[in-house]
Amino acid sequence: MASSNIAVTHSELGVVQAEVTAARRLSPHFVRLTVAGEALAGWRHLGFDQWFRLAVPTNDDTRFDNLADTFNMSGYLKYLTLPKSTRPVIRNYTVREFRPDARELDIDFVVHGEDGVAGPWAGSLPLGATVALIDQGCGYRHVESAEVVLVGDESALPAVLGILRDLPREARGHAVVEVPDLADAQPDEGPDGVELRWVARRPDAAVGAAALEALRELPPFVGAVSAFAAGESKLATGARRHLVNDRGVPKANVDFCGYWRAR
Ligand SMILES: Cc1cc2nc3c(=O)[nH]c(=O)nc-3n(C[C@H](O)[C@H](O)[C@H](O)COP(=O)(O)OP(=O)(O)OC[C@H]3O[C@@H](n4cnc5c(N)ncnc54)[C@H](O)[C@@H]3O)c2cc1C
Repeated sequence: MASSNIAVTHSELGVVQAEVTAARRLSPHFVRLTVAGEALAGWRHLGFDQWFRLAVPTNDDTRFDNLADTFNMSGYLKYLTLPKSTRPVIRNYTVREFRPDARELDIDFVVHGEDGVAGPWAGSLPLGATVALIDQGCGYRHVESAEVVLVGDESALPAVLGILRDLPREARGHAVVEVPDLADAQPDEGPDGVELRWVARRPDAAVGAAALEALRELPPFVGAVSAFAAGESKLATGARRHLVNDRGVPKANVDFCGYWRAR
């Protein structure tokens, strides 16, 4: 993970195996996979931007039964000792929606081209594939009665929409999501008092530039602020810098996380 101040809260559940039971393209840059399985009966449902390590198969021999239950430093070191030919690739994803009764969980993947593993794999609509999930908890810590400020790019769309969905209904503030194409915008279930603005990336602009511009244009904040900034690394750190240096928001009130790094 790139720069971040979010704390991981490991769950007791350990590695959860599930199967891809539905796969569909949502919009120009998004695919939604639904994963399901009995093991999800014990899933610690936290809502907001809850995220997890996703173990993605790389071939038919990929094994999920020898992963460490806790993906901390020792879990990662154990992972590195596993034979490359049978170990999965591990990436980070957000719970888009969890349906406990059906033991189903939706994941919205940015399909960002041919590079990498998880994006292209999701883009192949891999119905029937086995995956494994290791819960990592939430990054956003809501400060009661503070003004909410949420900023992200498309990789943080699931996190921002999850936070909006689960905020107290009396919450107020602003959310900005930058997407490659406005057709990638999704309906939100945020409180009436939180204004969500979708901004489109200009074709020749750096990822995050439009979101940072929209953040700078927000009206002055009144009172305490509870902020979350995630997405491409420079967007997450740039948003934090603006909030702390230019707006005087205490560092402790800005949860930020670089979700990926542009190369
Ligand atoms: C806490 C957390 C939650 C996350 N939740 C989600 C989520 O719900 N949905 C989601 O889509 N992503 C999410 N991400 C981001 C995701 O983990 C990364 O995008 C990851 O790099 C994708 O893996 P990959 O195998 O496709 O590409 P990688 O092998 O990691 O990278 C290959 C190449 O693709 C580029 N790349 C990677 N991601 C993107 C991108 N999003 N856009 C453009 N280029 C990219 C890299 O710069 C690199 O050049 C989350 C990240 C974190 C830390």
